[in-house]
This record gives sequence, structure tokens and C-alpha cells, in this order.
Amino acid sequence: MEIRAEAIEIKDYHDDGKLEMRVVKLRLPHESNFIYKAGQYAMLSMDGFTLRANPHALKWTSYSISSAPHHEGTIEFCFKIKETNGFTQYVKDHMQLGTKVGVKGPFGNFTNEHPQKKILMVATGSGIAPIMGMIRHLVHANSDVEIMLVYGMRNTNYFVFREELEKYARSHPKFILMPTLSRPDHKWDGRKGYVQGVLKDMKIDDISSTQAFICGNPQMVAEVKTLLLEKGFDKAKVHVEQWEGA
Ligand SMILES: Cc1cc2nc3c(=O)[nH]c(=O)nc-3n(C[C@H](O)[C@H](O)[C@H](O)COP(=O)(O)OP(=O)(O)OC[C@H]3O[C@@H](n4cnc5c(N)ncnc54)[C@H](O)[C@@H]3O)c2cc1C
Repeated sequence: MEIRAEAIEIKDYHDDGKLEMRVVKLRLPHESNFIYKAGQYAMLSMDGFTLRANPHALKWTSYSISSAPHHEGTIEFCFKIKETNGFTQYVKDHMQLGTKVGVKGPFGNFTNEHPQKKILMVATGSGIAPIMGMIRHLVHANSDVEIMLVYGMRNTNYFVFREELEKYARSHPKFILMPTLSRPDHKWDGRKGYVQGVLKDMKIDDISSTQAFICGNPQMVAEVKTLLLEKGFDKAKVHVEQWEGA
């Protein structure tokens, strides 16, 4: 399905005065009936951002959906802004309230079709996007699944969805939030280092009924997957999504 949606909310995250992450909520057209599963992705385009080889053809780029299916009428994406003259730089320079965005999809099978008793989620950077969609879905469904989220970022300026995640951690006894900072400032007294370190030390009971969802850059994903298999996870229960520079 291909539709045109409209930006209705933009939330920016800066570090050292530089825009690093941008979360954009889009309003779907009334008649669109865009149906997706939590964790899937869409292809996006913006007017004016075209293929270099053919300035008449829009360039479409993949982005995970950070909203959940119950957010009827809207869809949300989380962009890690890169200065590569690519789509995210265009998002930085041209995305405003009211901007029209082409949305094609949904695609992908990074979804949670058969929830188990426990879910371990591991995300770094923009890898939080599909994981957030799944968490929102589970929280909305009032699921009694136990969720542990190990969320890696450089410092708290990159803590996308912080308020909402902390709210879930306070209000849902079965949701455990483990933000892990690789370059925290002196005020941070939480977990430090990389997510791999947290997982290495983590004791996970009941591995046979635990699923894992890992999303972020390919090196982190590969290392975490290896660690989980070493801990005894069933390969079929370790689900991954990855992209360069997440
Ligand atoms: C399934 C999936 C989900 C993803 N989800 C997310 C997500 O949630 N958040 C996120 O931030 N990223 C996500 N990504 C990564 C995303 O698709 C882009 O690869 C990433 O945003 C790269 O950013 P860019 O601004 O360099 O964009 P791109 O536009 O992809 O640019 C990449 C490279 O191509 C070059 N290029 C750019 N425009 C053109 C052009 N018109 N013609 C030729 N070359 C060009 C650029 O100079 C750059 O070097 C996902 C990827 C996949 C596969």
C-alpha cells in the first residue's frame, strides 16, 4: 500500500548542539486503512528527495515503525540524523509540521507473533524504533509477558522515548528498563558501558520460555546474538533487525 501522510508532531534530540535523533509522528489519510504489525518497517519518501540518477523519481528509504497498531490514524518514525546528504539529512532540513511524506508498506518480519512468558529486548540508537512499537503494543494489550529492555545509547541526550519508557517501568511491574550509557556524564548513576557487558553479566532464568528481539547496528546485533546463544537461547527465539550506523 502506498499513501501520503502528514507530519503532525516532531520531537528532536540534540547532543553538543547537533541534531542527532528526530521522532516524527505522521497523520494517515482517513481512507488509508494502513495495517501493520508492531516491529514492521515502511519505505518513506519526501517530495524533492529524488534519485541522483533520475531527478524525476523519488528515492524511497526504509524506516522501522515506532508506533503500534492501536495508534489509529497516525504512524511514527525515529530518524538517526546523518550528514551524508541522504534521506535523514533531508528530514533534518525539510521536515516541518504539515510536510507530506510518502509511506509504502508495511514490510518485514521483525514481529512478535507468538509471545512467550518472557521477552528480552536489546536496542541501541535508532534500533529502539521497532522495539518501542512492540513495547507499546504489549503494554496496550495489558499483556502479562515479562519484558526486559536493555537500551544502549551514548548519553542521556540520546534517550529517545525516555519519559514514556520510565512511565511504563513505574506502572508495569513486569516491565524492566535497563538504560545503558557508553559515555555518561558525571550525574548518571545507572548502568555504564555497552549493552554486551550488561548481557554478559545478566542472569536470565527460564531461558527456554524467553524470546529475544535485538535491533541496532550489525556488530552489536551479532555480538549480542552470539552471547545469547552461548547462554542457551534457542536460535529460533532470537529475532534480529539491523542497519548500518543505527
Ligand atoms: C529494515 C530497516 C529499518 C530501518 N529503520 C531505521 C530507523 O528506524 N531509523 C533510522 O534512522 N534508520 C533506519 N534504517 C536505516 C535507513 O534505511 C537508512 O539506511 C539510514 O537512515 C541512512 O541514512 P542516510 O541519511 O545516510 O540515508 P540514505 O538516503 O539511505 O543515504 C545512504 C547513502 O546513499 C547516498 N544517497 C543518498 N541519497 C542518494 C540519492 N538520491 N541517490 C544516490 N545516492 C544517495 C548518501 O549520500 C549516503 O551515502 C533502517 C534500515 C532498514 C533496512
